[in-house]
Amino acid sequence: MKMVQFIAGATCPSCSAKDTIAINAENNLIYCVKCEFTEERPKEINNKKQSINVINIQDYKNPKS
Ligand SMILES: [Zn+2]
Repeated sequence: MKMVQFIAGATCPSCSAKDTIAINAENNLIYCVKCEFTEERPKEINNKKQSINVINIQDYKNPKS
């Protein structure tokens, strides 16, 4: 199972590459696939696409539409 998703349209603040930012749903860490950039990320990102995590259950209870 993939626990990683890319954030569409996100630009890396470190190397300025676009669409290289991914989020690891296991630890809520975002990172750039092109450089060493990592950052903690609030869970709001997770409502983009469901992944297998407890956090997403909360998102499901709170649909933003
Ligand atoms: Zn980068």
